[in-house]
Amino acid sequence: MAVPKKRTSKTKRNMRRSHHGAVRLHLSKCAKCKQAVPPHQTCANCGTYKGKEVVDVLAKLEKKERKQKEKELREQQEAAEVTPEQQAPAADTPVEKMPDSLK
Ligand SMILES: [Zn+2]
Repeated sequence: MAVPKKRTSKTKRNMRRSHHGAVRLHLSKCAKCKQAVPPHQTCANCGTYKGKEVVDVLAKLEKKERKQKEKELREQQEAAEVTPEQQAPAADTPVEKMPDSLK
């Protein structure tokens, strides 16, 4: 069996491990249901891509599950339609000026 000739120093070990960190997922919002979706991928929740339905999410489900999912999607869509109106006034409010003490 091959055996290392020398012990790996803390520096070398840590340099190797500097690439082992977890990478934050880049997520965008689904245009229809506002769920977090990886970019350039179909929304798994509602089956739409760029606002168009690509996958029939309800096709595989049983009748009972389908009814539940339809209800769920309706609620999510209603919630998604309401939130932009609620957020709109907040976006219009002017940004507070930086205090002079920080300049
Ligand atoms: Zn969606």
